[in-house]
Amino acid sequence: MKKTFYDPVWGTVEMCSRSNSRLIYYDVRIDKLRIVSPQSVLNRLWPLTKEIEQNLLAKRAELKKKVTSQGNAPLKAAFTPTTQIQTLTFQMQFAIDERLHNSFTARIEKQILTVYYAPDVDFDNPDTQRVFKRVLTHFLKIEAKRYLPTRLRKFAAEHQFSVKDVKISSAVQRWGSCNANKVINLSCYLMMLPSELIDLVLLHELCHTVEMNHSDHFYALLRKLAPQHDRLTGELKNISLNIRQWQ
Ligand SMILES: [Zn+2]
Repeated sequence: MKKTFYDPVWGTVEMCSRSNSRLIYYDVRIDKLRIVSPQSVLNRLWPLTKEIEQNLLAKRAELKKKVTSQGNAPLKAAFTPTTQIQTLTFQMQFAIDERLHNSFTARIEKQILTVYYAPDVDFDNPDTQRVFKRVLTHFLKIEAKRYLPTRLRKFAAEHQFSVKDVKISSAVQRWGSCNANKVINLSCYLMMLPSELIDLVLLHELCHTVEMNHSDHFYALLRKLAPQHDRLTGELKNISLNIRQWQ
C-alpha cells in the first residue's frame, strides 16, 4: 500500500507499508519525505508528532547545507507522475496520455488541474520540471488574482486600513510586500498555503500600510488582529524553504 500527497512543509510525502518491516523508516530529502512502516502503524504516522517533525527538519537542514556546499548539485525532481499538489482552490495531478509524443497538455475541471504527459516524457529532466512549474504557476496566478485581492480588501474594510492597489507576482523570496504608497504585492504561491497562513500574510502587509517597519508597535498591532501570530509565523518559516527552491 502506498499513499502520496503534498504537504506544504515537506513537499511530496510518500507513505508506504512493508509487511516485513518492523521499524519505521524516514527518508528525508529536501523536497520529499518518504516514510516506510509496518502496515499496522501506517495510518497513525501522519501528521507527525512535534518531536519527530523537529528531528526530521534538523536532518533536512543538514541535507540542505550539504547540497549547497556541493555547489549546484541538482535538486531532486519536485514533480513525479504520482505527485498531487493541493492548493487553496484546486488540486494538481498528473495523468499519462498515450496519444501524445514528448509533450503535455493541461486541463482544469471541477477544481482539478490535470497535466497529461506523453509516455516518453522524462520527469527527471530539468526542462520537464520547469514546464510543470510554469503550468502550476500559471493557474496559481489566475486563482490568486481571483482570491487574494478580495480577501485583502475584506480585511482592510474590517480593520480600517487603506490600500491603494494590490498586485500579484510570482515572487518566491517573499510572500508579500507593501510600499510607501500603500501598494501591496502578493506572491501567487500564497495559494499553496493553508488559509490561516494566507490570512496572516495579508494582515501582516495591511499593518505595513500604517507601520512601514517591523517595530514593536508594528507587532503589537499585528498581534491584536492575528492572535495566533507567533505559532503561525513558525509554520510559515518552515514552508518558505520549500517554495524558494522554485526560483
Ligand atoms: Zn513585514
